[in-house]
Amino acid sequence: MSSQIKVKRAFSLFSFPPTGKRLQEWISVILCFSLICFNFYNLLFYLRLEHTPSVLVGIFAGVITADFLSGLFHWGADTWGSVELPIVGKAFIRPFREHHIDPTAITRHDFIETNGDNCFMTLVPLANMAYKFVSFSPEALCDSCPWDCYVFALIIFITMTNQIHKWSHTYFGLPRWVVFLQDWHIILPRKHHRIHHVSPHETYFCITTGWLNYPLEKIRFWRCLENIIQGLTGEKPRADDMKWAQKIK
Ligand SMILES: [Zn+2]
Ligand SMILES: [Zn+2]
Repeated sequence: MSSQIKVKRAFSLFSFPPTGKRLQEWISVILCFSLICFNFYNLLFYLRLEHTPSVLVGIFAGVITADFLSGLFHWGADTWGSVELPIVGKAFIRPFREHHIDPTAITRHDFIETNGDNCFMTLVPLANMAYKFVSFSPEALCDSCPWDCYVFALIIFITMTNQIHKWSHTYFGLPRWVVFLQDWHIILPRKHHRIHHVSPHETYFCITTGWLNYPLEKIRFWRCLENIIQGLTGEKPRADDMKWAQKIK
């Protein structure tokens, strides 16, 4: 990257007031974290001791669902389509393909740039949950608490996926509590995610906790899905990625 572009980029990241995409990211992050606090407070308020087992199952299922969705989304962007596709190509496919070529670029993104898009994605379900807390009766909210814990854990882990992925590429200066979470495999560990970064990037797509990577690899889940799609459409998985990576090198 030329020094001129670097300076321009640094200026756009820290200029105030933020404009365009940067402004949208700022608003998404602020709204998202405000709604998370509001919903978390309400969830605690409606928690009952007798719900403990179903709440724990709900949280576990929410985290597993988020991990699976991160894998599905990542697998789709890595495996199919082209960076030249209108809208989807630039917005979704290109960042994932570029990430294989320069995996440490993500570590140079600040908090807003890292989390803006995911915060934007979870705004509607978070607002829906907040609406439920202000409009439903207390009895109904007590009854649906385990389900709400499932949805809330799912939303939290989807929101945090990019941050967790960024930490999995960061080798210096991570806070101790993040390293603790990685070492205990509560979030995606660094060594674990390295498996995905071996070309041709055809396995270990889950990037939230990574809990599903080993079992999905064991049952050859992604390969089966790719075979089905190739059988139906005639498209070869990663065909465009290989062409594109060659071009960039
Ligand atoms: Zn990838
Ligand atoms: Zn990565």
